[in-house]
Amino acid sequence: MKTLTLPSHTEMLQAVQNKNAEYDGVFFTAVKTTGVFCRPNCPARRPLPQNIEFYAKARDALFAGYRPCKRCRPLEPRDQPPTWLKPLLDAIDEDPARRWTDQDIRALGVEPGRVRRWFQKHYDMTFHAYSRGRRLGLALGRIRHGSSVTAAAFDHGYDSLAGFHEAFTKLVGVAPSTARTQTQVVITRIATPLGPMIAGASDTAVCLLEFADRRMLETQLRRMTQRLQCRLTPGTNEVLDQLASELEEYFAGKRRTFASPLMAPGTEFQQTVWKALVEIPSGETESYGALARRIGRPTAVRAVARANGDNRIAILIPCHRVVGSDGKLTGYGGGLWRKQRLLEIEQAPLHH
Ligand SMILES: [Zn+2]
Repeated sequence: MKTLTLPSHTEMLQAVQNKNAEYDGVFFTAVKTTGVFCRPNCPARRPLPQNIEFYAKARDALFAGYRPCKRCRPLEPRDQPPTWLKPLLDAIDEDPARRWTDQDIRALGVEPGRVRRWFQKHYDMTFHAYSRGRRLGLALGRIRHGSSVTAAAFDHGYDSLAGFHEAFTKLVGVAPSTARTQTQVVITRIATPLGPMIAGASDTAVCLLEFADRRMLETQLRRMTQRLQCRLTPGTNEVLDQLASELEEYFAGKRRTFASPLMAPGTEFQQTVWKALVEIPSGETESYGALARRIGRPTAVRAVARANGDNRIAILIPCHRVVGSDGKLTGYGGGLWRKQRLLEIEQAPLHH
């Protein structure tokens, strides 16, 4: 995957100001106050500059939790989508929370294989990634940036918070537990140079950090909710603020290790593997086999690989430091290109 660079901030603001159609496709604008993202030349009212976030790709804005604008339709190719696809696109717009099976798609008179090929070709993502992004956007659209996060959620009163819970319940697939002694987990998104991440923390520890477009994200959220019997709330807290600033230093090459406290409940075996992962020094890698030997389970290589993939706290529990026995990069939930970039960051000299 290529990392696209954006024009300068001034140039982009100018383009938005002039609704310059030449920039269509070059970047996308997302408006923090409305949770909607647009083409730079959207015919709708111009947003205030301080409320705009810029994205190089529509999918980045989607996975950062923004909804596509209904006027400029930033996700659609510039030509009209074909008529055969229209019923499906309309159905998704009507109910973005819905999970789609091939059978559902056929029921609309659309051939699933054709849908898959079309999405790959025109959106550069699978149909399932697209509908996952729409579901996520629905839940995360309630999350605002910065310190006003909680205030924004409460500003809109109980409805907004209830709406968040409903959207997240649909996303995660489990209703919040009604137990009285619930852990409250605050969920936010953190922008990184490798794409938006979703972070979760109780008031004492980080319990989730995943790239927003990761296929397993919904599963990870569900497992975490069940394990911790927790209730999810949009917002931020001290733990998440610390995490965000440590991540910023990490991506800037100014930090090697993290001080944020972690909470990663799992099976005994998973916990053993995750603890061993944290012991791999930054800048180094270890093979699955070596890791299995180190925890005294030399024949459990596949189970080690599985526990590695089940890690819910990316980067801080550095599952990206595990490689194949030949030193080759093997699978990574966030995508191999990210694994490569993370290792490059850790192997580069430290900036002071
Ligand atoms: Zn628009």
